[in-house]
Amino acid sequence: MGAGNEKILPPVTALTEPYWAGCREQELRLQQCDACGQYQFYPRSICSHCGHNELTWRRVSGRGRVASFSVVRRPMSEAYPAPTVIALVDLAEGPRMMSSLADADPDSLAIGQAVAVDFAEWSEDIFMPVFRLVTEEKQP
Ligand SMILES: [Zn+2]
Repeated sequence: MGAGNEKILPPVTALTEPYWAGCREQELRLQQCDACGQYQFYPRSICSHCGHNELTWRRVSGRGRVASFSVVRRPMSEAYPAPTVIALVDLAEGPRMMSSLADADPDSLAIGQAVAVDFAEWSEDIFMPVFRLVTEEKQP
């Protein structure tokens, strides 16, 4: 086809397959180090904190905060509507993830806003994590 209306799909490898399998189940999964307990993203064969090579995939909360964002006002192609917001999200478990914010008004966004993961169906196999703003519970 190549009509410019199809998204560029990420390659799925043996290393990343558990991640994408999670996304298909609407679960955000991260690798947790069996030695130091830290989480990491993106998937790697060793722990980025201590170098240990045994990591376990765990479902995580999907909650985080906007660390930084950028508004894309020109569409890359018909497959990517604009404006869209690309954000760095600090996940509750620690890792920072680049993603996009769905249904966010670029003009009222702020650093530190709470977000939760959602999944956008890009193809039969790829459900791409996106984040949505969530209202925070007020502390009593
Ligand atoms: Zn480690």
